[in-house]
Amino acid sequence: MTVEYNAEQKIPYPALWHVLYRSSTPFWDGVKEDKLLLQKCKSCGSFLNPPRPMCPKCQSMEQEWVPATGKGKLYSWVTYQESPHPAFKAPYSAVLIELEEGVRIVSNMVKVKPEELQIGMPVQVTFEKVAEDLILPKFETMS
Ligand SMILES: [Zn+2]
Repeated sequence: MTVEYNAEQKIPYPALWHVLYRSSTPFWDGVKEDKLLLQKCKSCGSFLNPPRPMCPKCQSMEQEWVPATGKGKLYSWVTYQESPHPAFKAPYSAVLIELEEGVRIVSNMVKVKPEELQIGMPVQVTFEKVAEDLILPKFETMS
């Protein structure tokens, strides 16, 4: 999964997008293998989320990708009652998960109805193939 940068465009934003996307490539490579990886600063040990080229705490450019436990809790969510796009069948919820590592990521729950969501409910990652070439990390309640 790569995005080609068009140097002819000379527009700052696509250039920035290319850098940010390149920064998250290891995350998406991990997802393809059912692994939830987090970017971690090799200098100060901070997790960098979203992934980025420089640590905001110590300005180090050295990072590594480490496996997350995949466990966490539901921090917050919003439920859409109307579909913004045919690909999203309402009602559905966009959830904010706080992983055990302290990193919060946006995702969706599986096998849980919006009305069953509860702040703090324990969750674990699962991987859902949503298209032929796209797997997304989602979350389910811990059994
Ligand atoms: Zn750092």
